Amino acid sequence: MSGRTAVVLFTRDLRLHDHPALATSCAAFDRVVPLYVLDPALAEKSPNRTRFLHQCLAELRDALRERGGDLVIRRGDPVAETIRLAGEVGAEAVALSADVSRYAARRERRLREECERHRLHLKLFPGLTVVEPGAVRPTGGDHYRVFSPYFRVWQGVDRRAELAAPKRVELPAGVQVGRLPALPKGESPDAAPGGESHARRRLKQWLPTLARYDDIHDDMAGDETSRLSPYLRFGCVSPLAVAERAGDRSHPFVRQLCWRDFYYQVTAAFPEISTKAYRRGASEDWRYDDEAMAAWTEGRTGMPIVDAGMRQMQAEGWMHNRARLITAGYLTKVLGLDWRPGVAVFAHWLLDGDVANNSGNWQWVAGTGNDSRPYRSLNPVRQAERYDPAGDYVRRWVPELASVAGKAVHQPWRLPPEERRTLDYPAPLEVPGADPVWMR
Ligand code: FAD
Repeated sequence: MSGRTAVVLFTRDLRLHDHPALATSCAAFDRVVPLYVLDPALAEKSPNRTRFLHQCLAELRDALRERGGDLVIRRGDPVAETIRLAGEVGAEAVALSADVSRYAARRERRLREECERHRLHLKLFPGLTVVEPGAVRPTGGDHYRVFSPYFRVWQGVDRRAELAAPKRVELPAGVQVGRLPALPKGESPDAAPGGESHARRRLKQWLPTLARYDDIHDDMAGDETSRLSPYLRFGCVSPLAVAERAGDRSHPFVRQLCWRDFYYQVTAAFPEISTKAYRRGASEDWRYDDEAMAAWTEGRTGMPIVDAGMRQMQAEGWMHNRARLITAGYLTKVLGLDWRPGVAVFAHWLLDGDVANNSGNWQWVAGTGNDSRPYRSLNPVRQAERYDPAGDYVRRWVPELASVAGKAVHQPWRLPPEERRTLDYPAPLEVPGADPVWMR
């Protein structure tokens, strides 16, 4: 076989457009072997995400086939399988997108060692964030600990140019491409489908809403945020491309994309983010209560706005950001329970479940993370009345309360006893030693 060959290891960058590792490899090598390795160590973590992943892979394979290539699917340890395939196709280089989680950092370290041993050139590319973690650093520090100064600097960073999808992907002859297993079952009946075409369509359909984003993003019943998070999680759309489409770098929507970058650079510097408190000296005096935890998880706490959020997550594999803030705040600041099991429940259900954003946001809410006001606590009733003023979000997700009109739905314990008795809905969980203001 003459000519030069590279393996492109896909991870959570499941797209052809604006994919620096793929575009650069296609330009620099005669043949490119796109590879995805199904790692059994990750497979069972979230049925919802596993299904979404398989939908992304099927689309990616089709798109590569349209360009003359294919997606090689292997099963096992991603490092061993990458090296094995590189040997089979006589590759001289391996390319992939740099990532920040502990799992990804370990994979990258082992891949570097193995590539050296097998005389393969390893090249890491950007692509998972708008601005690469580590691209901007505060004076005297390795990462930004507070969001606002990060956002100020982030807006001024020179961005790389967006890249077109390769026109052709030339595969070496005789590569065993492997089969994608049958589409696994998810757990959420109304989960969004995975794949680059869905992501691009969603972005295009949503962009006209951008101008109203600041007014609508906290309207829980209106539900008009972009819902791009699962697609960003799996890289079906490039975060840089989304930010460029949005334009104005100080726009509130672009600011949210910056939060995503912010937590990536925090995670790169603090890979223990999902298990250890980020803030030194943070109070970690949590309660442990299996019954309360189960009630929260299953959406039967008796606090309607909390139950609505948790049930939306089970139905759709996605939850509105305001509901995430309220449900996480209720678990940690009202029930006083540890944030880590909360992280695990979200990680199980969410299509966008992601180490950096999930743990970073949970720690922010729990007061152990990057919030400069760690002791703040959200009153769930006040939050509900403000962000679901007519009660429509609650009635949508908690049908037991569908007959309760208006904002009274947020406090069913205040309804006349005869009306309350007709509702098959629990009283709010008791919190030992607490006298919550909303019960007074
Ligand atoms: P939009 O409002 O349209 O925002 C656009 C994009 O900006 C989002 O797709 C997302 O990529 C990013 N973004 C928005 N808000 C945040 C934020 N607070 N932090 C980081 N990025 C943000 N987001 C995840 O992607 N994965 C998670 O696992 C995750 N877990 C969370 C856990 C908790 C406790 C909380 C409070 C928030 C969490 N978020 C997480 C952030 C946020 O809730 C979601 O990104 C957002 O709701 C996704 O909906 P959207 O795409 O319509 O967002």
